[in-house]
Amino acid sequence: NGFVKLGLAPELVQAVADLGYTEPTTVQSKVIPLALPVAPVEGQVTRYTDLMVSSQTGSGKTAAFLLPVLHTLIQQQAQAEADARAEFDRAVAEAAARGEPAPKRPKRKDPTNTRNFKAATPGALILCPTRELAQQVAHDAIELVKHCRGLRVANVVGGMPYQLQIAKLQNANLVVATPGRLLDLQRSQQIKLEQVQFLVVDEADRMLDLGFSDDLAELNQLTIQRQQTMMFSATFAPRIQQLAARVMREPQRIQI
Ligand code: AMP
Repeated sequence: NGFVKLGLAPELVQAVADLGYTEPTTVQSKVIPLALPVAPVEGQVTRYTDLMVSSQTGSGKTAAFLLPVLHTLIQQQAQAEADARAEFDRAVAEAAARGEPAPKRPKRKDPTNTRNFKAATPGALILCPTRELAQQVAHDAIELVKHCRGLRVANVVGGMPYQLQIAKLQNANLVVATPGRLLDLQRSQQIKLEQVQFLVVDEADRMLDLGFSDDLAELNQLTIQRQQTMMFSATFAPRIQQLAARVMREPQRIQI
């Protein structure tokens, strides 16, 4: 399978194989290697490249942005679990050295218990101009995470029952949203955006056509601490370039 060479996590390679994808499309083979983190030099923080990509629907652009984002979320989750295990083992060893009983393993919180309600804090956010597109992207994301234990995808779009969306939002790692409903949930503190590390703006040209310029500016500010931004658009018209200049740092351009 041609996706193995791209260095993606085995869970993701398995998911694309299940979908019947054997080779990456052009946009996938150009975007994925650039979007993956630049291997950190010893003692330096991991760095990510901002990308501005011109590509049409049907090119495979959805997987081109979902796969690298999901790959990094998987790696981070594995690292966090390894750190927690090491921490626990250290606590056990220290207790033994002091002749004390071993500490208990921390219990997992039950996310379905409403007393445990916390605002969602996703690590990745995909913005789409329409409800239909957001639902399609969320559907693709759910297919791609099916072998990933503990990675959750939520869809936030207008016109869906509010309560249902909030329930599904809890513990979501990746949120696919239209800007209006997302800002509603942010204002009512159902979702916090300060943990967002990866922001994707899909169909940026339609986003501007539909009048989402102010919402994008607000979401840019609310996720200003993020590490990476990718913007996909059918064209690089001047107004798209202005938006790119506002939301990205020295983006690499990929023209398909
Ligand atoms: P998109 O441009 O993201 O809307 O994708 C267009 C269609 O191509 C979707 O139905 C995908 O399931 C399909 N697709 C995406 N990547 C691949 C691939 N590498 N091989 C075959 N089909 C693909």
